[in-house]
Amino acid sequence: MEGVQVLEVTLQLKPCPFCGSEDISVIDWSTDDENPSYCGWCSLCNTEGPINESKDEAAEAWNKRKIPNVQYAEVLVEWMKDPEFKEEYTALQTIFERLVDKIVEEERKRGS
Ligand SMILES: [Zn+2]
Repeated sequence: MEGVQVLEVTLQLKPCPFCGSEDISVIDWSTDDENPSYCGWCSLCNTEGPINESKDEAAEAWNKRKIPNVQYAEVLVEWMKDPEFKEEYTALQTIFERLVDKIVEEERKRGS
Protein backbone atom coordinates (compact mmCIF):
# COMPACT_ATOMS: atom_id res chain seq x y z
CA MET A 1 0.00 0.00 0.00
CA GLU A 2 1.33 3.40 -0.94
CA GLY A 3 1.88 6.12 1.61
CA VAL A 4 0.91 4.12 4.66
CA GLN A 5 1.49 6.01 7.86
CA VAL A 6 2.34 3.62 10.67
CA LEU A 7 1.39 4.85 14.13
CA GLU A 8 2.55 4.10 17.63
CA VAL A 9 0.11 2.26 19.89
CA THR A 10 0.53 1.06 23.44
CA LEU A 11 -1.23 -2.25 22.90
CA GLN A 12 0.67 -5.26 21.57
CA LEU A 13 -1.02 -6.17 18.29
CA LYS A 14 -1.95 -9.79 17.72
CA PRO A 15 -0.85 -11.65 14.57
CA CYS A 16 -3.01 -11.47 11.47
CA PRO A 17 -5.95 -13.90 11.65
CA PHE A 18 -5.74 -14.50 7.91
CA CYS A 19 -2.05 -15.05 7.19
CA GLY A 20 -0.46 -15.26 10.64
CA SER A 21 1.94 -12.39 9.99
CA GLU A 22 3.14 -10.51 13.05
CA ASP A 23 3.90 -7.41 11.05
CA ILE A 24 0.77 -5.57 12.14
CA SER A 25 0.42 -1.81 12.44
CA VAL A 26 -2.22 0.73 13.22
CA ILE A 27 -2.60 3.08 10.29
CA ASP A 28 -4.28 6.39 9.73
CA TRP A 29 -7.40 5.75 7.67
CA SER A 30 -8.69 9.33 7.75
CA THR A 31 -9.84 10.90 4.54
CA ASP A 32 -9.94 14.37 6.07
CA ASP A 33 -8.73 16.10 9.24
CA GLU A 34 -12.17 16.47 10.77
CA ASN A 35 -12.96 12.80 10.96
CA PRO A 36 -9.98 10.89 12.28
CA SER A 37 -10.18 7.18 11.66
CA TYR A 38 -7.72 4.40 12.27
CA CYS A 39 -7.49 0.69 11.72
CA GLY A 40 -5.18 -2.23 12.28
CA TRP A 41 -3.43 -3.40 9.15
CA CYS A 42 -1.43 -6.45 8.07
CA SER A 43 1.38 -5.45 5.74
CA LEU A 44 1.71 -8.97 4.37
CA CYS A 45 -1.81 -9.75 3.15
CA ASN A 46 -3.16 -6.19 3.26
CA THR A 47 -6.04 -7.04 5.59
CA GLU A 48 -7.56 -4.14 7.48
CA GLY A 49 -9.21 -4.32 10.87
CA PRO A 50 -12.35 -2.50 12.02
CA ILE A 51 -12.13 1.27 11.69
CA ASN A 52 -12.16 3.36 14.86
CA GLU A 53 -11.87 6.97 15.90
CA SER A 54 -8.88 6.39 18.14
CA LYS A 55 -5.63 4.56 17.56
CA ASP A 56 -5.92 2.50 20.73
CA GLU A 57 -9.49 1.48 19.96
CA ALA A 58 -8.39 0.45 16.49
CA ALA A 59 -5.65 -1.66 18.08
CA GLU A 60 -8.12 -3.23 20.49
CA ALA A 61 -10.59 -3.93 17.68
CA TRP A 62 -7.83 -5.57 15.66
CA ASN A 63 -6.98 -7.85 18.55
CA LYS A 64 -10.61 -8.91 18.97
CA ARG A 65 -11.04 -9.63 15.31
CA LYS A 66 -12.44 -12.99 14.42
CA ILE A 67 -12.93 -14.35 10.95
CA PRO A 68 -16.37 -15.61 10.01
CA ASN A 69 -16.21 -19.29 9.06
CA VAL A 70 -17.16 -18.52 5.48
CA GLN A 71 -14.06 -16.37 5.15
CA TYR A 72 -11.94 -19.21 6.53
CA ALA A 73 -13.40 -21.40 3.84
CA GLU A 74 -12.59 -18.82 1.18
CA VAL A 75 -9.00 -18.51 2.40
CA LEU A 76 -8.71 -22.28 2.34
CA VAL A 77 -9.97 -22.43 -1.22
CA GLU A 78 -7.43 -19.76 -2.25
CA TRP A 79 -4.61 -21.73 -0.63
CA MET A 80 -5.65 -24.80 -2.52
CA LYS A 81 -4.96 -22.96 -5.77
CA ASP A 82 -1.37 -22.16 -4.78
CA PRO A 83 0.92 -24.17 -7.09
CA GLU A 84 3.57 -24.35 -4.38
CA PHE A 85 1.35 -26.66 -2.34
CA LYS A 86 -0.30 -28.45 -5.23
CA GLU A 87 0.79 -31.95 -4.26
CA GLU A 88 -0.25 -31.63 -0.65
CA TYR A 89 -3.55 -30.11 -1.57
CA THR A 90 -4.33 -32.67 -4.22
CA ALA A 91 -3.91 -35.31 -1.56
CA LEU A 92 -6.07 -33.38 0.87
CA GLN A 93 -8.55 -32.02 -1.60
CA THR A 94 -11.44 -34.31 -0.73
CA ILE A 95 -11.03 -33.54 2.94
CA PHE A 96 -10.83 -29.83 2.26
CA GLU A 97 -13.88 -29.88 0.05
CA ARG A 98 -15.90 -31.69 2.68
CA LEU A 99 -14.68 -29.26 5.30
CA VAL A 100 -15.62 -26.27 3.17
CA ASP A 101 -19.08 -27.75 2.49
CA LYS A 102 -19.53 -28.33 6.21
CA ILE A 103 -18.51 -24.78 7.10
CA VAL A 104 -20.79 -23.26 4.49
CA GLU A 105 -23.65 -25.48 5.65
CA GLU A 106 -23.11 -24.41 9.29
CA GLU A 107 -23.03 -20.74 8.32
CA ARG A 108 -26.25 -21.07 6.34
CA LYS A 109 -27.95 -22.71 9.31
CA ARG A 110 -26.83 -19.90 11.59
CA GLY A 111 -27.79 -17.26 9.08
CA SER A 112 -31.37 -18.44 8.68
ZN1 LIG B 1 -2.23 -10.91 7.09
